[in-house]
Amino acid sequence: MAVKFRDYYDILSINRDAGDKEIHKAFRKLARKYHPDLNPGDPRAEEKFKEVNEAYEVLRDPEKRKRYDTLGENWKAGQDFTPPPGWEEVHFDFGDMGNAREDFFGGLGGGGFSDFFNAIFGNRGGFGTGAATEPRTWSMRGQDVEAEMTITLEDAFRGTVKSISLRSQEVCSSCGGRGISGNLTCAACQGKGVASSVRAYEVRIPPGITDGGRIRLAGQGGAGSGGGPAGDLFIRVHIAPHPMFRLNGHDISATLRVAPWEAALGAKIEVPTLEGNSTLTIPPGTQSGQRLRMRGMGLPKKKGERGDQYVEVRIVVPRQLTPRERELFVELSRISRFNPRKN
Ligand SMILES: [Zn+2]
Repeated sequence: MAVKFRDYYDILSINRDAGDKEIHKAFRKLARKYHPDLNPGDPRAEEKFKEVNEAYEVLRDPEKRKRYDTLGENWKAGQDFTPPPGWEEVHFDFGDMGNAREDFFGGLGGGGFSDFFNAIFGNRGGFGTGAATEPRTWSMRGQDVEAEMTITLEDAFRGTVKSISLRSQEVCSSCGGRGISGNLTCAACQGKGVASSVRAYEVRIPPGITDGGRIRLAGQGGAGSGGGPAGDLFIRVHIAPHPMFRLNGHDISATLRVAPWEAALGAKIEVPTLEGNSTLTIPPGTQSGQRLRMRGMGLPKKKGERGDQYVEVRIVVPRQLTPRERELFVELSRISRFNPRKN
């Protein structure tokens, strides 16, 4: 059986090496553009919508994309395509495919995919054949929403719960995004098809999140349309600069000022950590700029591990000396054979 080849990359207007993000973005854009709710009674838009959906179904899934890519890149869209010998026998595991499609297009019948798709990935056990007679209702998963939040380093260390209010644009529920109700402009959205609303969220931030980390609130994003599920809310968390600690992933670092004699003789010094003060041993002969590690004193990681705290030693000298201090320094300079500029 010859079917017409479909160029899924061309359908989404992306390169063959496009990454997941790019694929998702292209799909979002085109799915919105051709969504049947927004193009009522336009069979071309409906056809495009199905093509976009099918292309995304294949390219979003590494397994399916791999199988599609093995066909090579010399095929042209619309060419007669016969699966390579042996392909019919390959059983393709649809696994979560039904679920994935449910997520995005709850009501889309199994016949939504082309003969080309079925030739490559097989017909889904009889679901795919009765397309013409299946009632079609369109639904779409809501949009993912991304928001930003800044917390303190202490909050990142202990974990916290923060409230956040977000304004979101959603498909108008009164008119389903059409902008009209009967013959009249929809009053709820003034014909715009979208409505904005403000929602408050409680965001639980786990201990040990790092700067730029993302938290996902499943199902808290934009509302779905036509009975489709809601999208997800992603919160990108930033950690505010700290007066004492600098942050590098799960590690923190701080500068410690020490007296020349503490550096020369060694000392035990109380240093601030995320859990209050802790005693740090400065070994004799410590140099200015030397970094001492306090193992496991950084931010929590997974599996109970923790990052480290680094202490950078800075030797400072007194700006003013008492007569006795001066006497001792003079004596030291007279008897010491230390030459810091040797070599
Ligand atoms: Zn409306």
